[in-house]
Amino acid sequence: MDDVDAVVIGSGPNGLVAAALLARAGWRVTVLERSAVAGGAVHSGELTVPGYVHDTYSAFYGLLHCSPVLGELGLDKDLEWAHFPSPVAAAVSPQEVAVCHRDPEQTAAGLARRATTDGPAWASLYRWWCEVGTSFLTQMLGPVGAPGPGLAFARRARRQGLFDTTQMLLGPLEALCVERFSDPAARALVAAGASHADVPVDHPGSAPAAIILALAAQQVGMPVPVGGAGRLAAALARAATDAGAVIRTGTEVTRVVVERNRVTGVESADGSHVRARRAVLADTGPRALFHGLVGTDHLPARFLDGLARFRYGTGVFKVDLALDGPAPWTAPELAQTGVVHLTGDLDAMAQAAHEARRGIVPARPMLIVGQQTVADPSRAPAGGHTLWIETHVPPVPRQSGSWASSKDAFLDVVMQRLEDHAPGLGARVVGSAVRTPEDLERENPNLVGGDLGAGSSSLDQQLVFRPVPGWFRYGTPVKGLYLCSASTHPGGGVHGMAGHNCARRVLSDRRRRRI
Ligand SMILES: Cc1cc2nc3c(=O)[nH]c(=O)nc-3n(C[C@H](O)[C@H](O)[C@H](O)COP(=O)(O)OP(=O)(O)OC[C@H]3O[C@@H](n4cnc5c(N)ncnc54)[C@H](O)[C@@H]3O)c2cc1C
Repeated sequence: MDDVDAVVIGSGPNGLVAAALLARAGWRVTVLERSAVAGGAVHSGELTVPGYVHDTYSAFYGLLHCSPVLGELGLDKDLEWAHFPSPVAAAVSPQEVAVCHRDPEQTAAGLARRATTDGPAWASLYRWWCEVGTSFLTQMLGPVGAPGPGLAFARRARRQGLFDTTQMLLGPLEALCVERFSDPAARALVAAGASHADVPVDHPGSAPAAIILALAAQQVGMPVPVGGAGRLAAALARAATDAGAVIRTGTEVTRVVVERNRVTGVESADGSHVRARRAVLADTGPRALFHGLVGTDHLPARFLDGLARFRYGTGVFKVDLALDGPAPWTAPELAQTGVVHLTGDLDAMAQAAHEARRGIVPARPMLIVGQQTVADPSRAPAGGHTLWIETHVPPVPRQSGSWASSKDAFLDVVMQRLEDHAPGLGARVVGSAVRTPEDLERENPNLVGGDLGAGSSSLDQQLVFRPVPGWFRYGTPVKGLYLCSASTHPGGGVHGMAGHNCARRVLSDRRRRRI
């Protein structure tokens, strides 16, 4: 039996960041990962044909570039980042597109060419981001209620700014878009981030994530690691092992051992047992942890009631294409763009999101199309390109009851939508790979129903409510047991901050002799 200070269950970015910080503090740490490689939803491989490297799950790391984790863990040591001339774009039709360029003035000038007032509107929104929004993001990434970032945000926003900002962030995203922008494509550019989450643009709570994604893209771009997401996974794993942590892949934890309401270790499917002297940190889903690994006998009824209310969002349908040339977009501006959002206008965005939430396979899905090879040609043979496509769908289609029978028909819808915007694309496809929500969950049990956010990002599941009302500081009713996955604050995305905040909480609990 191994005997360590802390066990981390799962090696997603949050688990690896937590392991690195605990190991740096001198703790003996073992990470147990059920998959063959560490990294969780940060992974790449030749998914279609040899020579084409695709990002299996996450792909664009703007959030990581806004997170203190990047510098603190020294992830850039042996990673090279590639940048796009234009990080994001949104299309409401094949001809009507709005583009975010690296230079904010160029973005504003492009929007102004479509509608005179939209250029200054973008410039003003970006000014707000630089003056106030970035400190809002810092506050959002840190632990809930941390006084430092909260005060910094309040100081920057000042009294009136605080009211205006709070109203803007609490309102539905479409209100902001319609009030400030007149061109449908410019509105879609601001709203495009909503297509990455499960909250429709006409719902309160849709604004924060979309604004952060749109303006972070303007600030830091949409960086991709040269060679594929797997390079980032390797850098995260190296940060943990360089600090002294041990990572054991191919090891699925099947039980968290609790004795007299204290966690004492974990058992794995291979029969091995690791004793944890101080803590166990779970980079897992909350129900998988408490219902599956711990057992409800160890948990108070009130906690279990709160846990029963935890909801997952819509799922993701993922398509990877290998092309023998660039995507032949009708709008030439899209050729140099990292992430193209084929969203349609705000009405179309709301409709697609509502359908997905209601179990209906969207008739006109919002497609998020990544063109990694535009910035990183090393991922394909000379002249070749990859496309990474994801779109939000129901976890299970209501009509058919299973993605197995709906997959082919929906793939046709996705390919037709691409063809509408890039005529001739189909003829350039030399290989493809498709992942339904069911496939994603099979590969990684944290992606319940294919939800890439590991839990709905609606307002009632944020901050003090995530994952269980009142249990937002990573601790659990079991002494020494912590949850550090994206199902905790600050939620989905590769920023590592759930792991970061959790590790700091664990170290603080140890200093105060609570564990
Ligand atoms: C298709 C897709 C696209 C995405 N795109 C982006 C993007 O472009 N940019 C971005 O910032 N974010 C993106 N995300 C979201 C981001 O990848 C996740 O929010 C992030 O990876 C969450 O990290 P995590 O550490 O909480 O969990 P995960 O990365 O999900 O890792 C959890 C790990 O725990 C392991 N595990 C679970 N249970 C056990 C067990 N019992 N025993 C052992 N191991 C276990 C799993 O195998 C997995 O390796 C995307 C996600 C998906 C699925």
